[in-house]
Amino acid sequence: RVRSHDQVPGAEINSFLSLADERALAQASRIDDLAKKGDPLPPLAGVPIGVKDLLTMHGAPATAGSAILKDYHPPYDATSVARLDAAGATLLGKLNCDQFGMGSSNENSAFGPVRNPRALDRVPGGSSGGSAAAVAAGFCTASLGTDTGGSIRQPAAFCGVVGLLPTYGRVSRYGLIAFASSLDRVGPFANSVSDAAELLQVMAGPDPMDATSSHVPVDNYVAAAKAPATGMRIGVPAEYFAEGLDPDIRSAVEKTLDQLRAAGNTVQPIHLPHTEYAVPTYYVLCTAEASSNLSRFDGVRYGHRAPNAKTLSQLFRESREEGFGAEVKRRILLGTYSLSAGYYDAFYRKAQQVRTLIARDFLAAFAEVDAIVTPSTPAPAWKLGERVDDPISMYLADIYTVGPSLAGICGISVPCGVTPAGLPIGVQVLSGHFQETKLLQVAAAIE
Ligand code: GLN
Repeated sequence: RVRSHDQVPGAEINSFLSLADERALAQASRIDDLAKKGDPLPPLAGVPIGVKDLLTMHGAPATAGSAILKDYHPPYDATSVARLDAAGATLLGKLNCDQFGMGSSNENSAFGPVRNPRALDRVPGGSSGGSAAAVAAGFCTASLGTDTGGSIRQPAAFCGVVGLLPTYGRVSRYGLIAFASSLDRVGPFANSVSDAAELLQVMAGPDPMDATSSHVPVDNYVAAAKAPATGMRIGVPAEYFAEGLDPDIRSAVEKTLDQLRAAGNTVQPIHLPHTEYAVPTYYVLCTAEASSNLSRFDGVRYGHRAPNAKTLSQLFRESREEGFGAEVKRRILLGTYSLSAGYYDAFYRKAQQVRTLIARDFLAAFAEVDAIVTPSTPAPAWKLGERVDDPISMYLADIYTVGPSLAGICGISVPCGVTPAGLPIGVQVLSGHFQETKLLQVAAAIE
């Protein structure tokens, strides 16, 4: 049995879309039996965890935040979900998000916006707004989100929780409903760096169901999160502290840098010269991939089917017209345009080339430093409704998160203070491919 979202406690926050009561109770009694028998408990025994509705979880719907998948009940678990389950976690249910992960405010959900538990008139960030809000509100100890261009780090910053973006390939994407496959990743939200590390430890590693999952050995992340960085070289990119950065965020991040110095690390200026191209490059590539990935929603195989269509092409057209939200349609149009003959070279191919330059900026930086520290966002959480009619200003809010996404490196947002109005501020730590141990050590030194 799955409850509908208006019956869920904390309904004004609107973070949970469905609860998987039966599955959660079965797991809890399994753990209880182990405990009674005195058997050793798995690492996440009994830990209540929520799952973004862009991931599949048997026993609950997977809407992807969209009306087109409103009644879709996946018959299988995403690998990330299955690994949490095997580690004993109690999977509570599914969390609200922007449709197909497209958005920065969680206002693009077909099931209503999520409210920020720290300031109910503000957005929680997006697209994993429900995942961040549920942890911030105390509905679950940790949650799973997905991040394509910032959707874990930005809502973590807005809600005052930790959000971890693993290296591309570190955690399997099997069961993650695809938005932009070359960018999509699964990662945890938690109240502490070490809780986030516990989830990563369980989820990381190769998966035969995802050919892009990596065989690079899985390190001891739990230990790293308990060993705050000292003697590390920290890079600070001038491009991430330019015009447009909120002064309260700037000073909170500068305090964080002082804290890292005091812990025996060195802080040095670095440059990521192609930063200004990251937002346009990201939006060309993610829309192109989305236009292709979302062609599978045709009214035949999954989800919503238009009731009165007479022909096949009418069925495709009407099912998609009725099922997809406005932002999803905007992106399919943009992506179809940049992939079409005559425009492909000017937009898609060019963006791929710039992506390589952006990735090389980071690789060059990591030859000099162990980690990079930046603000997670240029501004704190904005008011609900404030930017809904201005997609460009919404896209620009991703300025600090999309570059690392394009480069495939790992990152984490850690709370580092509040504005005078009490809004949470996040600091972003970045490290190289599969350098999660360094990342977690630096994050631990900040926390
Ligand atoms: N805000 C970005 C977008 O709208 C990132 C979303 C994400 O990471 N899924 O595409």
